Amino acid sequence: MNDKKPDTACQAFDVVIIGAGFAGMYMLHKCRGLGLSAIVLDAAGDVGGTWYWNRYPGARCDIDSLDYSYSFDDDLQQEWKWSERYSPQAEILDYAAHVAKRFDLRRDIRFDTLVVSASFDEAATQWELVTDTGAAFRGTWCVMAVGCLSLPQKPDFDGLDDFRGPWYHTGLWPHEAVDFTGMKVGVVGTGSSAIQSIPQIAKQASHLTVFQRTPNFSVPAWNGPLDPEREQEVKADYAVFRECARWSQSGYNGEESHESGHEASANRQRSELERRWAVGGFTVLSTFSDIGNDLEVNKIVADFAHEKIRERVNDPAVADLLCPKNHPFGTKRLCVDIDYYETYNRENVTLVDIKDAPIERITPTGLATSSGSYEFDAIVFAIGFDAMTGPLLNIDIRGRAGEPLRDKWEEGPQSYLGLTVAGFPNMFTVTGPQSPSVLTNMMSAVEQHIEWISDCLGYLKENGLTLIEAEGTSENDWVRHNEEVGNATLYPLANSWYVGANIPGKSSAFMPYAGHFGEYRKLCDEIAADDYRGFKLEAGEPAA
Ligand code: NAP
Repeated sequence: MNDKKPDTACQAFDVVIIGAGFAGMYMLHKCRGLGLSAIVLDAAGDVGGTWYWNRYPGARCDIDSLDYSYSFDDDLQQEWKWSERYSPQAEILDYAAHVAKRFDLRRDIRFDTLVVSASFDEAATQWELVTDTGAAFRGTWCVMAVGCLSLPQKPDFDGLDDFRGPWYHTGLWPHEAVDFTGMKVGVVGTGSSAIQSIPQIAKQASHLTVFQRTPNFSVPAWNGPLDPEREQEVKADYAVFRECARWSQSGYNGEESHESGHEASANRQRSELERRWAVGGFTVLSTFSDIGNDLEVNKIVADFAHEKIRERVNDPAVADLLCPKNHPFGTKRLCVDIDYYETYNRENVTLVDIKDAPIERITPTGLATSSGSYEFDAIVFAIGFDAMTGPLLNIDIRGRAGEPLRDKWEEGPQSYLGLTVAGFPNMFTVTGPQSPSVLTNMMSAVEQHIEWISDCLGYLKENGLTLIEAEGTSENDWVRHNEEVGNATLYPLANSWYVGANIPGKSSAFMPYAGHFGEYRKLCDEIAADDYRGFKLEAGEPAA
């Protein structure tokens, strides 16, 4: 039951921003710099976005800390000290809180405020956002900084309400500590969230049973304390380090490759794979330049990863179950783990393959698959999110003539640059579908979009313009370009959340833009420099 008090007052701003994660926080900061009034609305109780909600044991970033942070303020990046190569969730949340305090952001953020609808009022050239308490907020511009993975997939299993023990979703983890000591625990799912939490839960539980529908590829993180020499080296010339990330393939200082797997000898393939495996993380994903579009080359890497799984897991039958065989390497989001495979060598951990024997129901004391029953004290659902379009369509967004975005995107997203939607003027989608977003370092993607949007708002202000809207033709061209770029990769060969395959009934469009991040940035910059080519711009005074 919603016990919040109804609130019907309407407040007006230049910019209304949904989401107080890294995108929304930076957008607010930029608006202030432009002299625009702005408000941020977020359902959470504090800043942090994804890091506010995903508090499950073992949650941490899979991009190096020195890359996964804001670059826009040199004092900020110099003063903040990361403790590990890959930051744990709590430290990233501390960082978000530090930024909020340092830039005095919280005074313009309304927490515990869930936006349920956003409608464009054509007569007034304003967006009106309504919250679950009935409060209304108006703004000439609306920035959707809602995140790509912020709408958890609800466990939709028969009998869940009758389960006698506690159950959790990794993406909605409680704020208080959860102690599994002495408990029989079941984990459903083997994506990134599961792969991070399973080794931690196994250390506490008396017994842990993992239910796997599809095995995922995972590479070792080799996490550890951040090397002080490395930190010093980066901080000595942070601007150059950031500039490299900005124009790179994926928005971070990873080691790219210009070497085709076909051109490399068998010895060279092997030594390069071993070398990159020893570095760990996403470095493995770029071992060869053609790993993402050539099945033969991809298979070399997949076979190597299988070999590593078999080395790490003692029981050959369990190792075999853990080897992904139905999708090419990296076509489902690659996982980066700490002792994931070794966890299956523990006496108290069992892997159950549910590919051919799905979960049929949750029982009062556990769960039942079509081939057996299992007893648990607690269940953890690590079953992922309605990604990318989900967080946007969860809000009833209506553009010109009241057109629902839900209707427009029924067959899949349509946007111009993944930033704007024709028929939805003055609305920006930060790291939206059809932008590089989830295929890059999200921090770089967020900064690039926020800077583009704020430059655009500055341009509109300077030129006395109050409306910007993607032209239908530029949107169509961008949609087509997205399809072409996506279809030239191996991504469509996997039933991943990139194509909405994890959500029953969701359209099967490939959602992120698979092009080069630096090239995408260049294109966005060129479009802006060309007086916002492909957009309709209009002058006029917004209604008071
Ligand atoms: P996910 O990758 O979508 O994994 C969900 C898992 O649950 C999959 O194994 C899926 O199986 C399984 N599943 C879903 N519904 C099921 C059902 N009804 N019955 C049985 N199994 C079911 O979700 P996630 O692990 O939360 O990760 C989502 C994304 O968040 C990641 O890919 C990554 O981008 C991001 N993330 C990042 C980090 C990090 O930075 N380190 C950590 C966590 C998450 P199928 O594969 O068969 O669908």
